[in-house]
Amino acid sequence: MLKGARVALPGGVVDNGEVVVEGDRIAANAQENAQVIDVTGHYVVPGFVDIHNHGGGGASFTSGTVEDVLTGIDTHRRHGTTTLVASTVTGDMDFLAQRAGLLSELAEQGDLAGIHFEGPFISPCRKGAHSEELLRDPDPAEVRKLIDAARGQARMVTLATELPGGVDSVRLLAEHGVIAAIGHTDATYEQTVEAIDAGATVATHLFNAMPALGHRAPGPIAALLEDERITVELINDGTHLHPASLQLAFHHAGPDRVAFITDAMDAAGFGDGRYMLGPLEVEVADGVARLVEGGSIAGSTLTLDRAFKRAVTLDGLSVEDAVTALSTTPARLLGMSDSIGSLEPGKYADLVLLDASFDVKGVLRRGVWVVEPHLV
Ligand SMILES: [Zn+2]
Repeated sequence: MLKGARVALPGGVVDNGEVVVEGDRIAANAQENAQVIDVTGHYVVPGFVDIHNHGGGGASFTSGTVEDVLTGIDTHRRHGTTTLVASTVTGDMDFLAQRAGLLSELAEQGDLAGIHFEGPFISPCRKGAHSEELLRDPDPAEVRKLIDAARGQARMVTLATELPGGVDSVRLLAEHGVIAAIGHTDATYEQTVEAIDAGATVATHLFNAMPALGHRAPGPIAALLEDERITVELINDGTHLHPASLQLAFHHAGPDRVAFITDAMDAAGFGDGRYMLGPLEVEVADGVARLVEGGSIAGSTLTLDRAFKRAVTLDGLSVEDAVTALSTTPARLLGMSDSIGSLEPGKYADLVLLDASFDVKGVLRRGVWVVEPHLV
């Protein structure tokens, strides 16, 4: 039993609250002989859920071995991410199918919450850090191949829905229960509306890798922000978005339609230096990852604990709203609200202990300490 904490419950933050853990679950009441840990002065929030993440700890989900992938997962866990969807970057179709096989095994054993394919079905005009020569139009048959290769573990595909085959691919994904995410797109407002009507439900890192909001050409941003069916991903690292853009999106969509993501690459939780993102070389300096050739931003070095801290200390969000955008909303998107996303009896005991400055002082995943509580 954790006692004395400020606990982020679904209805709001409760002072001097308790969280009881039994086995891998949260329990309603403590047994008589329960071990009690006094965490007075600390916050207890639900474990973070990252639906867009390419790696960390020096390891890549797109190219690493099984051991590398586990290193990346563990790195993010230590920063509070107890549920993680591994993202690939654009690659050759056979290579991506092979990666899907490897990652799906880790998903089956519970280390990942599934796979997100970012590319290759994206726009050459908005390619960001994806190799142009490997991009292709979203042919539903090829989308289907990737889903099949993931053996039930495909959670999301990011695609430019305005390309030939884009809307049909959205329909195919929706039929298979895979999230169709609009991103790396050059779509107009009208084309975006068409894709949403076809079943797209996520905006991949809203603002990044898409046309800007214009007064006569509102583009995808207006369509994605205004539609209740869309959840928008935001990268809250202070580099990808001006704080005012982030706040505009947050206040317009509301916490129930925002998922904070990292879009992290290998350098997250590791350090500056030279890395590969798929086939492309990346230089990380002062925590900002850029392609060596061309200088495009190439993912982030963000971890979700930092996204949380920025949200409540710099962006003026309440703890409750930050918890919603970092846990509850992404859990719901993944269809996992029954087991994660809030601190309620019966759900997994996935939680993060934060001090008064919102720095991580403990991480519990499925009832096991990933980071032992270190309280001062
Ligand atoms: Zn990404």
